[in-house]
Amino acid sequence: MTEEVKVEEKKENGPAIIFYCKDCEEIVDTNKLGKKYLYSCKKCGTKNVAFGTVKSVNGFFRLEEKAKQKAKEAQRMKEAGKSSQGQSA
Ligand SMILES: [Zn+2]
Repeated sequence: MTEEVKVEEKKENGPAIIFYCKDCEEIVDTNKLGKKYLYSCKKCGTKNVAFGTVKSVNGFFRLEEKAKQKAKEAQRMKEAGKSSQGQSA
């Protein structure tokens, strides 16, 4: 059954590449522009898009930290909304 092993080897396309829009500040889908290694953000249309492996992009842009910060902000907003709702007098 050596042939089956070959099939698995073929599956290896290298690390997955993701795209990070510096304007949206998040991982986005992109449109490829022409022949060059140029991509535009599907969300906002900017060409201000970086790409790399999940590992490199996460490391470079510190996405995890940003995600944590966002969660914190959301929590704050929630709490702020609660307290302002209470002043109905
Ligand atoms: Zn964008």
